[in-house]
Amino acid sequence: MPDMKEDLKQRAAELGFVLSGVAAAASPGRLSALNRWLDSGFHGEMSYLETRREAYQHPNSIVDGCRSLLMLALPYDSSGAKEQASKIARYARGQNDYHDIIHARLKRLKTWLLEREPRAKVRGIVDTAPLLEREFAEIAGLGWVAKNTMLINRRWGSYFFLAAILTDIELTPDTPHEKSFCGTCTACLDSCPTNAFPEPFVLDATKCISYQTIENRDEVAKEVKPHFHDWMFGCDICQEVCPWNKHPKECDSELLPEQESFNPVELLELTEEEFRERFRKTPFWRPRRRGMLRNAILSVGAQKLPGAISALQRLLRDEEELLRMSAAWSLMQLDAQSHQVALQAALVKEDSPEVRENLRELLGRAEQA
Ligand code: SF4
Ligand code: SF4
Repeated sequence: MPDMKEDLKQRAAELGFVLSGVAAAASPGRLSALNRWLDSGFHGEMSYLETRREAYQHPNSIVDGCRSLLMLALPYDSSGAKEQASKIARYARGQNDYHDIIHARLKRLKTWLLEREPRAKVRGIVDTAPLLEREFAEIAGLGWVAKNTMLINRRWGSYFFLAAILTDIELTPDTPHEKSFCGTCTACLDSCPTNAFPEPFVLDATKCISYQTIENRDEVAKEVKPHFHDWMFGCDICQEVCPWNKHPKECDSELLPEQESFNPVELLELTEEEFRERFRKTPFWRPRRRGMLRNAILSVGAQKLPGAISALQRLLRDEEELLRMSAAWSLMQLDAQSHQVALQAALVKEDSPEVRENLRELLGRAEQA
């Protein structure tokens, strides 16, 4: 049904999707790589990936009788970071959650399809379904899966969201993108501050700042903490260094970054209610206040921002164990000698065995230094 496909792609373009292509529903070729990745434990605490291992075998698990996937790309902000004390990954800089923005447009595409094929099964997805989106995007001709595991398009680089429409309508597949344009480049692998790539095309999420700041709800791995640098939510380094992202591209009008710069010290002052009011509809809601405060605390510690000292001292008494431990770590990064007394005082009053152990370890390290 070639005409339907072209009209559908035209409609997608009108809705702002800058790339679109059709892949036939089939078992993805990278399933064995996914299984090896899961077996290696590189998914960390993202147990939903393990639970849905079987479901990745075929898009039928998402739409019964699925025959075609329309793969789509929507560009987010690719400009340089604004002046801000702590960085947020580009994809999360908009004012609203991108899931809501993209789902609203997928819904319009679905309506358009159902008007023409009322009995069809159609479902729109944005990174929450068991689908190897990057592989299907490659098969649909949108770009290649690169050494940093992102999908790259020669015109658009990699700063875009992938979305998909799955349907039992048969659409003519587009030509797969077969060539990689990474060549001999290894810039992404070499620049990762936490060595999160055990080999090209494989990401150990447990070492990745992005995973640690967003998916990990508890204490951040010791080896990653000192490398937070100025990142507070996600990390773009392995995309920033990519030559295909050298020149900024147009950003979708609904995904433009919020104008306000971000100061992590300000975040440390927010109450639960204030946090909810300000961030409930943004990607920051995912790690909640507990996770975001932990990130902000670690970020000010890794950057040694002196303006955060009084907030950190107050957080040594926070009701969340995680925040007490994080604040203690950051104070020691800022100035281990000056803050030993505050940590010793906190140790005396501390009830939690885990936090006590943590404080003792930090104090022990300070004594040895
Ligand atoms: Fe490394 Fe950052 Fe890329 Fe994660 S996002 S792999 S920490 S460079
Ligand atoms: Fe490929 Fe180089 Fe970009 Fe990495 S930095 S994804 S190796 S082109």
